[in-house]
Amino acid sequence: MNDYLIKALAFDGNVRAYAISSTEMVAEAQRRHTTWPTASAAMGRAMTASTMMASSLKGQEKITVKIEGGGPVGAIIVDADAEGHTRAYVSNPHVHFDLNEQGKLDVASAVGRDGFLSVVKDIGMRDKFTGQVPLVSGELGEDFTYYLVTSEQVPSSVGVGVLVNPDNTILAAGGFMIQLLPDAAEETIKFIEKRIQNIPPISKLIEQGYSPEEILAELLGEENIKILDKMPVSFECSCSKDRFANGIIGLGKEEVHKMIEEDGEAETVCHFCNAHYHFSKKELTELASQTKV
Ligand code: ZN
Repeated sequence: MNDYLIKALAFDGNVRAYAISSTEMVAEAQRRHTTWPTASAAMGRAMTASTMMASSLKGQEKITVKIEGGGPVGAIIVDADAEGHTRAYVSNPHVHFDLNEQGKLDVASAVGRDGFLSVVKDIGMRDKFTGQVPLVSGELGEDFTYYLVTSEQVPSSVGVGVLVNPDNTILAAGGFMIQLLPDAAEETIKFIEKRIQNIPPISKLIEQGYSPEEILAELLGEENIKILDKMPVSFECSCSKDRFANGIIGLGKEEVHKMIEEDGEAETVCHFCNAHYHFSKKELTELASQTKV
């Protein structure tokens, strides 16, 4: 089944809720970067949370999330736009740890706890909004929650999970994001807090094949939810050979001539999707003629 995200309002419009199935999106990222299980879980959880956050943006707006916790996986970088297109990479894809005490992938050991989660919102104007918080757990769901509560001042709860098959491919991925709006009643808040405490971990729900609709029903009660939108989500990279060509032109005449003389060709690689673009001597000569400096 293809991945999708649902947006809903609950409790007479006083609660915003999102849920997502992101299995294929994370599987594509895993294949492109050949991540090992713990690194896949870290990257996949970050992708799942970022996609939900970006889905509240409009038009051409997008976010870049960077997580750097000092752990062996290095930096996790995620780009997500308002239309459900997400791409990501980690500095060190080949990281794996034994399962933690809860029998889950030990994401906190891969990510580390000594660092930050930052979000840059590109809302199509000259100014970009940047928010940054210290990591509180390294498990990422809690870290995204902490970001939303402290940096965006929206009382929120984020749950994300990724399950990996024995052959390193992705079995399932998904998550939810619940946000309280200013008029949420005290009893609504208490009800949701209790439900979140008492339901099984999100990874269990995903393992049991819960759809996004069923995840929200489990969290908030089906009778309390009004689903507003359902949109497909996927791994997508916006790179192209033209973009890399522009990058080469930007290096300047001297640098491009050096490439031609030393190597006679060039190979560029996109960090986000691992696509390789080859430039022949003829193409580089053409690009050198377009340089301005
Ligand atoms: Zn790419």
